[in-house]
Amino acid sequence: MEQFKRAAFSILLTITLLLFHFHAHALQVDVEPSEISIGDAFVIKINGVETVMPEASLNGAALHFGKCGDGCFMAIGTAGLKTPPGVHSIRLEIRGKATEIPLTVKHTAFPEIKLTLDAKKVFLSPEDLKRAEIEREKLKAIFQAASGKHWDGNFITPLKNEFSTGFGVKRIINKEKISIHEGLDIRGKEGEEITASNSGKVVLAEELFFGGNTVVIDHGLGIYTVYMHLSEIKVSLNSIVSKGDVIGLVGATGRASGPHLHFGVKIGGISANPASIFNLKL
Ligand SMILES: [Zn+2]
Repeated sequence: MEQFKRAAFSILLTITLLLFHFHAHALQVDVEPSEISIGDAFVIKINGVETVMPEASLNGAALHFGKCGDGCFMAIGTAGLKTPPGVHSIRLEIRGKATEIPLTVKHTAFPEIKLTLDAKKVFLSPEDLKRAEIEREKLKAIFQAASGKHWDGNFITPLKNEFSTGFGVKRIINKEKISIHEGLDIRGKEGEEITASNSGKVVLAEELFFGGNTVVIDHGLGIYTVYMHLSEIKVSLNSIVSKGDVIGLVGATGRASGPHLHFGVKIGGISANPASIFNLKL
């Protein structure tokens, strides 16, 4: 009887180890890049998951996964401007089992610009303040939703010109008002064509107080691109666009000092450095 018990235990242990071995080797998790600057985007790809949707979060913010082939799931995440430098953990949960994947966020210095503007342009009237606040809330609500994956391969630059003001630049206006640039400005001439950075659905196409003529595209899985200060909008609300389609023309509408494109990227409601999404291998 003892012998039988020992044999049974031995078989059970072998099966358990084999299963563990199988699981440990079947699951492959890749984070690319594994070291980023503050505000950068990253891709997490998991292979060997079969059908169960993985769950993951970074500092409490959920990552939204989509399929990338048989047994493959991927999500795009970002470490927003409030993320302190250091090693952070992406909490990953598959079939109730949790693991932590390290992500290094490098110390990142953002430039400071001192500006002197006409006081009328800095301090808004109560009506303008109210309008700007309503629009801010509307955008915030849009960026909270995560629909199915619409993007198709890598993101491309919406305007093939030089970048001017980068992401994270701190603007100190009239020595008292601080404004952090949560997008990327791309130089452009009035009327130049702006194209969709990737495929998706137009979820906003209207004139905003700060952004002027603005287009927002939902690429799915919580990823949005934002195009501001357009002289003309060339798409309508709810239309489906393909990567490279013309969506508008360069202008200086809203609070812009001259014609340029303000290009923004939101990931799970957090502003990401648009320059970093062009390098993601999707
Ligand atoms: Zn800008």
